[in-house]
Amino acid sequence: MASDPGFTDTYRHRGLRKKLVSVIRSKGIQDQAILDVIGKIPRHFFLDRAFEDWAYKDQAFPIASKQTISQPYTVAYQTQLLCLEPKDRVLEIGTGSGYQAAVLSELCAKVYSVERQGTLYTKTKKLLQRLGYGNIRLYHMDGMLGLSRYAPFDKILVTAGADQTPQALLDQLKIGGYLVIPVGDRKGQVMLRIEKVSEKEYRTERFDNFRFVPLLDGLK
Ligand code: SAH
Repeated sequence: MASDPGFTDTYRHRGLRKKLVSVIRSKGIQDQAILDVIGKIPRHFFLDRAFEDWAYKDQAFPIASKQTISQPYTVAYQTQLLCLEPKDRVLEIGTGSGYQAAVLSELCAKVYSVERQGTLYTKTKKLLQRLGYGNIRLYHMDGMLGLSRYAPFDKILVTAGADQTPQALLDQLKIGGYLVIPVGDRKGQVMLRIEKVSEKEYRTERFDNFRFVPLLDGLK
């Protein structure tokens, strides 16, 4: 990575990342392992070159296909709710830039990430390969259907706003596993953490409000 001229991570970038970590901590993220990962991953690799200076602001930012890279605070917030363990196999719905997938991959055994937009899927697949993320697998599929081939998952994370929780995702969760999903309408969603207590029982906790791009069905 360091020898790849397209991807340079300078002293200045590392300094900006340190500041970003303290901003996220001051907003209430306490999990040190997650803060360390945010401090480690060069977020500017996940944005187009021209927007490099935006990478370390705690803001969402437009990427290709009218989608966004989530705000770093939101990435940390959703990751914290997953209570990841090193052995976990995690399904992410909404690959986007691949940044959230990269964060997850540092904290669990394997990440399966699904994206419905073909252009984004292709772009991000190339990027993650180039950066050497060997424990992330990407799929160009409709994530509302989950990824039944590799189910059940220990944890499932949805990074787009859903109007309701897709049944397929509940079905593909292990007993004792968590699904973290923002549910609401286009104006805003509440973050839910749903625990699968038994084959048919779920326990839902509600957290803060967010605004994500919509979870849409079908492929593009
Ligand atoms: N996790 C991303 C955030 C991307 S924004 C990141 O770290 O950058 C949400 C993404 O969800 C968008 O790329 C959008 O195309 C995708 N998406 C929306 N509906 C989807 C669906 N049904 N299946 C898979 N991806 C979906």
